[in-house]
Amino acid sequence: MGEYINVTETFGCDVFNDSVMQERLPKKVYKELKKTIQEGKELSMEIADVVAHEMKEWAIEKGATHYSHWFQPLTGVTAEKHDAFITAPMENGKVLMSFSGKELIKGEPDASSFPSGGLRATFEARGYTTWDCTSPAFVRHDAAGGTLCIPTAFCSYTGEALDQKTPLLRSMEAVNVQALRLIRLFGNTTSKKVTPSVGAEQEYFLIDKDKWMQRKDLIYTGRTLFGAMPPKGQEMDDHYLGTIRQRISAYMKEVNEECWKLGVSAKTQHNEVAPAQHELAPIYAPANIAADHNQIMMRILKKVASRHGMRCLLHEKPFAGVNGSGKHNNWSLTTDDGINLLEPGKTPHENVQFLLVLTCILKAVDEHADLLRESAADVGNDHRLGGNEAPPAVISVFLGEQLEDVLEQLISTGMATHSKKGSKLETGVKTLPDFMKDATDRNRTSPFAFTGNKFEFRMVGSRDSISSCNVVLNTIAAEVFKEACDRLEAAPDFELAVHDLIKEYATEHQRIVFNGNGYAPEWEEEAKRRGLPILPSMVDAIPALTTDKSVKLFESFGVFTRAELESRAEIQYEIYAKAINIEAKTMIDIATKQIIPAVIKYTTVLADSVNAVRAAGNIDTSVQMELLQETSRLLSETSCAMKALGEVVGKVMEYPEGCSRAVFCKEKVVPAMEALREPVDALEMIVDKEMWPMPSYGDLIFEV
Ligand code: ADP
Ligand code: MG
Repeated sequence: MGEYINVTETFGCDVFNDSVMQERLPKKVYKELKKTIQEGKELSMEIADVVAHEMKEWAIEKGATHYSHWFQPLTGVTAEKHDAFITAPMENGKVLMSFSGKELIKGEPDASSFPSGGLRATFEARGYTTWDCTSPAFVRHDAAGGTLCIPTAFCSYTGEALDQKTPLLRSMEAVNVQALRLIRLFGNTTSKKVTPSVGAEQEYFLIDKDKWMQRKDLIYTGRTLFGAMPPKGQEMDDHYLGTIRQRISAYMKEVNEECWKLGVSAKTQHNEVAPAQHELAPIYAPANIAADHNQIMMRILKKVASRHGMRCLLHEKPFAGVNGSGKHNNWSLTTDDGINLLEPGKTPHENVQFLLVLTCILKAVDEHADLLRESAADVGNDHRLGGNEAPPAVISVFLGEQLEDVLEQLISTGMATHSKKGSKLETGVKTLPDFMKDATDRNRTSPFAFTGNKFEFRMVGSRDSISSCNVVLNTIAAEVFKEACDRLEAAPDFELAVHDLIKEYATEHQRIVFNGNGYAPEWEEEAKRRGLPILPSMVDAIPALTTDKSVKLFESFGVFTRAELESRAEIQYEIYAKAINIEAKTMIDIATKQIIPAVIKYTTVLADSVNAVRAAGNIDTSVQMELLQETSRLLSETSCAMKALGEVVGKVMEYPEGCSRAVFCKEKVVPAMEALREPVDALEMIVDKEMWPMPSYGDLIFEV
């Protein structure tokens, strides 16, 4: 504690990054590997052997005893299988530490228990992990000692993607090819690669571990299934950006240090809107690295919390009635020589390439709004999207005053002649410096907002992987870029054609632009009028994956086959039904074993008191009686609701796994859960606090 940390020295110290490779690999090997990383050239086994050897030597110096192919199956979390570096003992009983190129490049976990959505029958259980050399390996230290983690993609025997990373890499390649075509049209001959850059802001809650241990709902499901609101919520807005308390600061310090060691550039931290809620954002990185780093960050957030006697909750809605957590996915397209295609410059109306890119993205988002919504579908996120805190479950794009004005000029006159400028910010205080404001204010209610030189997709859930949404963003952008390039490359007069195309896209896809308040109830009505898809639940969103439109999109860029999409839809349905089933059973368990017994005890105390007071003389017991009656009424309501929930839960397995089971869970089980929660929360408000069997919301979020 308190010791001085040299950030520039510790940053990336546990990562096999470019400078380590340059230092340790023979020049020729380094060059070949770089070619693979930068240009996607195939890696020979000879080179892989040398890289593996050096990587192992380096990892052992860092304290590693094991290596692991680290991958992201469709369970939502990362998976790994550890192998020690040791070889079979020699005659003298000693062992060597070895690691071959083959072991680096390819792994074969017995993967039959990972979800495959029917892609892989258990009798053909082979799955392969392959090294993603564009995301650096790292040594992770924890209770298991040091482990060399090798980021990998995970595929079936026949090459179908069984993970989050494979399609992400495929989609990055798709958008690279099309975006390069586009910038060539504008005379760029020097950039070699266009990469989607992503920065994911991560929200989370911290609560006391001892209190967490007393909440079975948090333990089993990650969220509270019961809980009455405390007298004070977040209405005072006194937590947002508030002073960070010492216990939390100490935690954040360690989180940052662990992130930095692993090359995760944790940058911005602050208190969030809800009490006990915080945020951590890294500096943006190429999409696949950002996705890996986000997984690493989530793990660190949890691990360090444990060390500090706390629990980090990554669930999207741990507490009803309190703001939930999301993950803002900031996305832009950057060339290898540092040009951001989403940079409008000071005079966007003159920046034709920017206007083309922008209107292409409008078209892409409008045409595939359902897919983008689906990419943020997650069981926990159903509680968040549409509440007055997170973007609604309708996709729209916020452009801001300046760009909206440029588009309006384009649509109405066919020409944009000027861009609105930011004015001087005048505070009325002489000693404060005046400065130029941005031309555009922010809009916090939009799910997909242009924020200066990037888009911020705000729907993603805090626990979810950011891969899915970036797969969609990259691929839909690729599709429209391709269409635009096909047309522009064939046009006799480029200037004229590009002008017409921008106008056409802006005009045809105006309906997706919405700069107003996304939380207002009128917006949903307006969205309906505009014909925008409204998909409130995950179960409503899943079908977007397998429409003909979606299959055509993904197949034409080699991102997903129809079979892969169908398997993903299947897995999503399964995940939904399983999660709801676990929640419902946990509710029944808590109600039966904790709540009902506690309430019965309380009614007995009340009844005894009534009798004792009456025996003492002719004294008024109406208050006790009223309380007893109300408690007993709520108790019987609880018991009825519990029986009803038990009945529907009993039927879940009668529905075939997949869509129909998920629909049953959404339509029957979820409402039955809500019906049980109601009387229980009412009981919590009247039962003696000493007798209530678990910590309250107030205990959990105000006393960390
Ligand atoms: P905000 O004020 O919206 O929080 P920040 O500048 O703090 O904006 O950025 C939030 C996240 O967006 C960070 O992770 C940051 O690295 C990332 N980001 C910034 N610029 C870009 C960009 N051009 N492309 C992608 N992500 C970006
Ligand atoms: Mg932001």
